[in-house]
Order: sequence, then C-alpha cells, then structure tokens
Amino acid sequence: MKDTFYITSAIPYVNADPHIGTVMDPIQADVLARYHRQRQTATLLSAGTDVHGAKITEVAEGQGLEPQELTEQISERMRLLFRRLNVSFDCFVRTSDPEHKRAAREIWRRLSADIYKSSYHGWYCVGCEEHVTQEDARENDYVCPDHNRAYETIEEENYFFALSKYTQQIKDAITRDEYCIIPEKRKNEILSLLDFGLQDVSFSRPKNKLSWGVEVPDDPEHVMYVWPDALTNYLTATGFPDEGYDKWWPADMHVIGKGILRFHAAIWPGMLLAAGLPLPKQLFVHDYITFNGDKMSKSQGNFVAPSEVIDAYGTDALRYYLLHEVPSSNDGDFTWERLETVYNSDLADDLGNLVHRVGAMIDKYQNGAINPAGDPAHDIADYHQAISECRFEDGLDVVMGFVKDLNRYIEEEKPWEIAKTDGEHLGEVLSYLASNLAHAGWLLAPFLPETGQAIYNAFSGEKLQPLEGPLFPKRSTSEEYSP
Ligand SMILES: [Zn+2]
Repeated sequence: MKDTFYITSAIPYVNADPHIGTVMDPIQADVLARYHRQRQTATLLSAGTDVHGAKITEVAEGQGLEPQELTEQISERMRLLFRRLNVSFDCFVRTSDPEHKRAAREIWRRLSADIYKSSYHGWYCVGCEEHVTQEDARENDYVCPDHNRAYETIEEENYFFALSKYTQQIKDAITRDEYCIIPEKRKNEILSLLDFGLQDVSFSRPKNKLSWGVEVPDDPEHVMYVWPDALTNYLTATGFPDEGYDKWWPADMHVIGKGILRFHAAIWPGMLLAAGLPLPKQLFVHDYITFNGDKMSKSQGNFVAPSEVIDAYGTDALRYYLLHEVPSSNDGDFTWERLETVYNSDLADDLGNLVHRVGAMIDKYQNGAINPAGDPAHDIADYHQAISECRFEDGLDVVMGFVKDLNRYIEEEKPWEIAKTDGEHLGEVLSYLASNLAHAGWLLAPFLPETGQAIYNAFSGEKLQPLEGPLFPKRSTSEEYSP
C-alpha cells in the first residue's frame, strides 16, 4: 500500500481564456491536496496545460507566432493564475514538454499490441477537429452546431486504439468501485454508456492535418490525437516511465468537469489496462457554472475572468464562492450581486467580525495573553465525511456553522459584562473562544488558505498574533457590483 496521496487537476486546452468555471477543478483539487498535507500525508498535486492541436496552429499563425511561442505564453499566464488562486500544485505539465512527449511515446509503445492502422472514412468538423459519427451528423443536419459549418467527409489513415475489447473490464472496475466515480449520477451515466459497448477510437492524425503534436513513434507521418497525448499528462507528473513513478501512481483522484467524463472513465482506463498499469482510484466530476443563468462565453460577452473577481474581492472570496455557492456536483450560477451578498454576510459579518471581536477583547482585557484551553469543542466527523465525498460546500458549512456558534456564544456570554465582575471566568471564556477560533482556522485552511492560516496563527499561541489589517472588510452595497 502506498501511503501517499496523488491528485490531479484536468489540464485546460489553451485555445481559450480561462473563466471562473475553468478554475473549478484546480481549486477543488487544491482543497483535497491541502487537506491531506495537513494530515502529514506525502501529497502530489499536478496541474498543467493541453497545448497541442490544429486550432493552436491556426491561432498562432493569426498572431504571427510559432505554436511553441504562443503556447508557452498562454501556459505561463495559466500557471501564474493558478498561483494567484493559491492552487498549491507541485508540478505543472505542458504537453509540449520533452518529459511529457517521452511519456506519451512510452505509453504508445506499451499499447502497440492494441493499436492498428486503418482508414477513417466519414464525417469531420474542421472547427472541432473531430470525427463525427453518422448518427451525430444526421441529428445535427450535417452542420456543426458549435461552428455553424457543414461537416465534411474525409478519408484518411489513422491509428486506432482497440478500446472496444476493454469494455467489460472497464465496466467491472467502475461497477465495483475499484475505479470509483463520484458522484453516483456520473457513475450511472458512464455505466449506461458502457452498456452499449465502446468503439475503437482514432488515436492519430496524418501530419499534414495535425502538425503541432507528439509524433507517433517510428511513424513521423502521423501525430498523436489528443487522447494518448493529453491523458498521459497524469503519468508524466509522476516521472513516468522512470523508476520511482509508482511512488505516486496510481493516482488517488482525478478531478474533472463533466464534459470530459467519457474520456476519463472510458478511454483512459482502457489505455491503462492495455498498458498493464493500475487504474486510478477515484474520479470526481463537477458540473458547470453559468453567469447570470447563461453559459459562459467570451465571444458572447457573457464571461467572468477569475482575475476580475480576485482584483475586486480577493482570492479567498472567489474560492469561497466556487466552493460554497456552487454545488460540488451540480450546476451553479455566478452573479456579482450574489458574490456581494455572500461576501458581506458570510465572510465580513460572520467570520471577519468574529475574528476582529475576539482579537480586540483578548487585546483589551488580557493585553494579548491567551490562557491555555482544553481541546476545542467541535464535532468534526461531518467535516471529514464531506471532504472524503468531495462535498465541498458541506465541509465549508460545518466550519461556518462553528463560526456562527461562536458568534452566538459571545452574544450569550457577554464577555464585556463578565469583565466587570469576574476576571477568572473572563479568562476562560476568551481562551475558549481563541482555541475554537484557531481550530476553525485550521479546518478552513484547505478551503481558504490565506484566511484559515491567518486565523490559526492569530489564536493558536500563548499570545495573540494580530492580523495584518481587517479580514474581509465589509463592502458598502452602494459600491458598483462589478469591478
Ligand atoms: Zn465543430
């Protein structure tokens, strides 16, 4: 048994600017990574970017850049954004990295018994860069709904991966939770797809169609299509195929959005089975986030960039919204009004105010001294349970419930009254508040790292460590909603 925790965030395709939905999986994965690090488990969190494909070549040409230059620029922006979001990734894989190409070629070699060359004859969307099945083409009247462009028929040589023969093994692994899919509805969704049986999948494109990618080993006229390339990033991060990669592999959890369920719950386990590698243990699938009720789209002007929210409210406010206001595994919505409300009520009034009051009383009545206290009174079984099931909003609810309890405790105990008569009891009340607040900070830290750590540091010692400035200063509702 390995005593490590390896968690991955999906790698976004760099053809579009990130919106607040793009950063859901790195943030969710970060919560779990931080939670496990707090428990002294050796933890690896991987992130990265998927940079290959004909779309990138097209964009690069439009900007007068080489694909390599363009994708390095975008990847660097993404990496900095993840840092700004306090995503504590340990490695950042770009699929153009030499180590990654090496891993992808190695996987291809290990799959070679299940890879065969054949001719693809059928529908194709140039915009999607994807083959389209006869059923899908007919359903859409032979026009791509995303690109409003007629499907073309093409005939080309591809390498195919014999995924179909792994259908039963994949189904068994998922049914028995050996590859456990969370939540249940996504598990059922993939199982009903598997009931129809999987088809073999195209794993390459001729080089004249797709030049920006990983060349197929021993056949430079063919370039890997996205699946063998991008999915392998999860192995690259472990150092695969070098010795020691199995310190981390199999991954304990992949975190993805629902749009790529099929690739992670069918193609990827098929590849791993064919390569003789163990399957990941869990796959957590989140839904999407809309803006004012509509799908986020930059071209339609319906778009919120993570940096906009951070600039106006701070990183932890964005993390709080995405982890608490957006259900972990259902669709959620973002509005600036809702953010403002939640910021003021939960973060400023409940949490920020509590921290401020307790700090001020310890300062005023005890000159900053914190008496030793017994263990904090919280029952945290629900907190651990929620985190183990990726119900982030429920985990946060537990902590915010403690915060509310502590506010109520202050109202009931009225330490400022006790101060007039009973100094000893006052010391007990304040040390109770301090130790419980320190504990709340500790529990909060995986979700809101800066805030949680600051609260913990302030109240966990024998002397109050004042915070630098107020926590979540209240915003007047007369201010503009959007930054
Ligand atoms: Zn299309």
